[in-house]
Amino acid sequence: MNIILLGPPGAGKGTQARHLVETRGMVQLSTGDMLREAKTSGTEMGQKVAAIMDAGKLVTDEIVIGLIEEKLTSETGAGFIFDGFPRTLAQADALAALLAKVGQSLHTVIEMRVDDEALVKRITARSTCGGCGEVYNDITKPIPADGKCTNCGKENDFRRRADDNEDSLRTRLMEYYKKTSPLIGYYYAKGDLRPVNGLAGIEEVTASIEAILG
Ligand code: ADP
Repeated sequence: MNIILLGPPGAGKGTQARHLVETRGMVQLSTGDMLREAKTSGTEMGQKVAAIMDAGKLVTDEIVIGLIEEKLTSETGAGFIFDGFPRTLAQADALAALLAKVGQSLHTVIEMRVDDEALVKRITARSTCGGCGEVYNDITKPIPADGKCTNCGKENDFRRRADDNEDSLRTRLMEYYKKTSPLIGYYYAKGDLRPVNGLAGIEEVTASIEAILG
């Protein structure tokens, strides 16, 4: 079963994807994570995308489609969770073609609905554990007082993303509304779209997704 988690930055896609990986053995394909990895690896591609990402703009379709293609042909598991991909109509068409090429199809597109005010609050309060990627939030899930990650136990390695600041976030939101939100209509028309309320608590959102996936 291959699914897409679709929603604006800060909608909780990564958090829910991690849960599906743990409970169902699915494979999370996060283009954001792949690009951040490339950024720190010092490759030519990494250098090319660093400034674009930090400013909150989208990197080119060609680059992200290439990254996804590589993973689709090399990873196996109980299905893929596309997190942060596709982000443009061209990427959506490319994904359909790539899945067809490997004899697979798309099961469901989960649309995580969150209002803009909540996004800005969530993102500017966000940090992740450098050891395992567990996501914390100053308001809803603060870093433990003893400084140890509740998931992996690593001490005092909580990181904020370079693009989790207000300026970059405004650009990310603008990119989302201009280029990614048309995908909601695209997948609705295809009959694949299932909305969930991303404003609910983490467990409640998880339960809604489980109910949809069955
Ligand atoms: P968020 O959903 O919180 O904005 P991501 O980690 O998914 O964060 O993405 C971070 C950045 O990586 C984006 O702002 C963009 O620059 C780049 N990026 C990630 N996925 C894509 C994609 N599919 N197409 C183009 N750029 C992407």
